[in-house]
Amino acid sequence: MPIRCKRCRAALSEIYIPYARLNLCPDCFLKFYTSKVKRTVEEFKMFRDDDVVGVAVSGGKDSMALLHALKYGFPKLSLKALHVNLGIANYSAHCQAKVEKLVESLDVELHIFDLQKEIGITIGDFKRTPFKDKLCSVCGTIKRHVFEELAIRAKVKVLATGHNLDDIVAIMFNNFLYGQWEQLVRLKPVLPPLAEGMAYKVKPLIKCPENENLLYCLYGNVPFREMECPFSSGTGVKKKARIIETAAGDNPYFKHQLLNRFLELIPLLERNKPQKSFKTCQICGFPSLDQICAYCKRLSLVWRAMGKA
Ligand SMILES: [Zn+2]
Ligand SMILES: [Zn+2]
Repeated sequence: MPIRCKRCRAALSEIYIPYARLNLCPDCFLKFYTSKVKRTVEEFKMFRDDDVVGVAVSGGKDSMALLHALKYGFPKLSLKALHVNLGIANYSAHCQAKVEKLVESLDVELHIFDLQKEIGITIGDFKRTPFKDKLCSVCGTIKRHVFEELAIRAKVKVLATGHNLDDIVAIMFNNFLYGQWEQLVRLKPVLPPLAEGMAYKVKPLIKCPENENLLYCLYGNVPFREMECPFSSGTGVKKKARIIETAAGDNPYFKHQLLNRFLELIPLLERNKPQKSFKTCQICGFPSLDQICAYCKRLSLVWRAMGKA
């Protein structure tokens, strides 16, 4: 016998949420998802209704679902979409087109930072540097910096990113395993600005499993990129944390439990290991642990490799 939706009891169920033991129809799933995002924002006091919030959108399912859900969950919020064009042939144009399609349908202002146009490099140019086998890592460093810059340009007070539950627990577990306590602390749901004039960083999807973000896009007609990044090595943190997937197979609450324990651990870690003090990067003026920040170091490497320095 077909199963009916547990919420509306009218439509047929198409989606099962194992940790909540819920059978849902598509409409009730969309409501379930947006109200979960809303509750997460409220639980961690990520922003207020009248704040200006920027969403870092890559074109991937997580960040696209986030922008869409925030627009519907917080209709009064002033939302802006921030996008970095990485200049990767056949890929970046596809990502940007998806982002443009979504912001147009939601009527959200879009701010783009095009690496090629603004600083004359693309992520592929790093193949000529010692980072050639670590493009994902160097891309992460570049994006982190550029999103800070975009947040200042777009005058947003809060910068929301699409980190999902699976990403967060995998990275937390990995940091835990290798004793990388400072990086573990940086995964908390709300990170205060590194310096005055910079944005708060928040993670409203911290409780949303990856597959729910995908289902939200599919059932909610949210456009998202359908290509894998050609430079993605497929050996990310998630692969290393395969043990989490194994444990989660027997226990649908496992990832939530893991997240909750880590969130309890973070204040204890912060109390015992005070944050390192930041200097100011001598080139770009952003907060940095060294005289020159990681972003500027990488840029000078790639410029030198391209004969521009
Ligand atoms: Zn229903
Ligand atoms: Zn710098």
